[in-house]
Amino acid sequence: MRKFKTESKKLLDLMINSIYTNREIFLRELISNASDAVDKLYFKSLTDSKVEISKDDLAILVSFDKDARTITVSDNGIGMDKDDLDRNLGTIAHSDSLEFKSENAETQGEDIDIIGQFGVGFYSAFMVASKVKVVSRAYGADAAYSWESDGVEGYTVKEAERASHGTDVILTLKEDTDEENYDSYLSEYKLKSLIKRYSNYVRYPVQMEVEKT
Ligand code: ADP
Ligand code: MG
Repeated sequence: MRKFKTESKKLLDLMINSIYTNREIFLRELISNASDAVDKLYFKSLTDSKVEISKDDLAILVSFDKDARTITVSDNGIGMDKDDLDRNLGTIAHSDSLEFKSENAETQGEDIDIIGQFGVGFYSAFMVASKVKVVSRAYGADAAYSWESDGVEGYTVKEAERASHGTDVILTLKEDTDEENYDSYLSEYKLKSLIKRYSNYVRYPVQMEVEKT
């Protein structure tokens, strides 16, 4: 297992233990990351003639499995290789702003504000998930890798399978999310309404897979 860096651990603790009530923003953060990944691949296709991507094929897919208690956000964007997973998900992206804010925040209440103010992104998944697994295959790579963590000490990176380029972020939801704002996240209704709320500015279709019964 690889250990999280100190600053990342601080942020994770904040995420997991804060009384921050607006936990549903995790979906906005994951959809925005998926959208960025798709953007990166699209722009690559504009500047590199070897990259043959049709804009119509680029999309983000949200699905869920009630029995397994999982929500998955998938994209067919640029993906991440083994080093990217380690570098991008092992340390927080905005450590500068976080450092600045933590030094200047005196109370826990202000700490909590940090989460609202900055798109702290990926780690917000740990507000609702007891386990996060990321399966990714970088564009142009043959191998896929998975990154997995319970958000406490660290994470593991292993070889994995993925049919083509892109990323799946699979959250196993905590039990205490079941009645959030009166609805479980593990329902088509709730997820659809969150997607509607949070994907306004996303330039790619965000599709929702209805549960298989
Ligand atoms: P930010 O989006 O502000 O950079 P995040 O914490 O949301 O910060 O994400 C950290 C980094 O992890 C991103 O910058 C990106 O490099 C990588 N990442 C996260 N999700 C994905 C994804 N779906 N596809 C590719 N890279 C991703
Ligand atoms: Mg982000």
